[in-house]
Amino acid sequence: MAASSVLKKGTSTSPHRKNRGDLDTSLGASPLFQQSASRAIRVVSMCENRIGCRARGTLSIGRHGLATQMQMDLVRAGKKTPPPNAAEVWIDFDGTLTTQDVVDSLVRGFCATDAWRALEDAWQAGQIGSRECLAGQFSLVRIGEEDLDAFLASISLDPGTPRLFELLGRHGVPAMILSDGIDWFIDYILRAHDLQPPPVRSNTLVRSGASWQLVCPHFSPACQSAAAHCKCASMERLGTPGRWRIYVGDGRSDLCAARKAHLRFAKGTLAANLEDEGLEYAPFATLNDVCHVLETAWPQRRLRAA
Ligand SMILES: [Mg+2]
Ligand SMILES: [Zn+2]
Repeated sequence: MAASSVLKKGTSTSPHRKNRGDLDTSLGASPLFQQSASRAIRVVSMCENRIGCRARGTLSIGRHGLATQMQMDLVRAGKKTPPPNAAEVWIDFDGTLTTQDVVDSLVRGFCATDAWRALEDAWQAGQIGSRECLAGQFSLVRIGEEDLDAFLASISLDPGTPRLFELLGRHGVPAMILSDGIDWFIDYILRAHDLQPPPVRSNTLVRSGASWQLVCPHFSPACQSAAAHCKCASMERLGTPGRWRIYVGDGRSDLCAARKAHLRFAKGTLAANLEDEGLEYAPFATLNDVCHVLETAWPQRRLRAA
């Protein structure tokens, strides 16, 4: 899907802005979270001004000086971060773990005709869901094996991706990639970067003559995001009861799952949609910002003296 053209800028004047208090507040009352929050104030200064649309003015935070709204939101995320043994993390792939939307780039670069544009426009206008859009676009893609390998190998990751995987593994936090893209593209890209990915749940693609056929085993006609992969249904089905859900994403297909998360890290279209709905989220520029918050909330275990 073309994510680049649907970026909607968040606004500080949203009528919903005042209502951003839907997250469970009981976590913030815990001494553990209070402790991590004070550290988060120092950490988030590294994130300042990386997202222009969110850096809307400054707010006083006492002896720590001035902070942008983004900093304040990240501090709030630190307060709400559950401990590792009570958390599970759900991560989008395209545009979140990568710096670009893989399917969008493939479609733009390798479609046999320009017919993909009409599908894209219809999806943008909300006239069709991503399944219909993607299925139509993939049927137009023509690319050989060698060129496909080269294309997938050219995809760059967010600079914080290895750090996020390492952090989650070190703390034993269950994680899953929920993607509206293609499972074996994701596997190829992450392995090309020598990363062992967490489990992936996604659409898949099979050869059908000269073209490809999209297969959507996790589609739901009831999906509120009208996505090929209903991420909220996957999260409901696979989530561990009793664990707090942390969601990280950037696009329209993330919205249905993000609505049901306890803590949200968002950028791009997802951030704009959450903003419009008055749902609380922490903005991020790169996954390093997310890692800062989690690392601050999840202190290192002290090494025992020999
Ligand atoms: Mg995405
Ligand atoms: Zn859904």
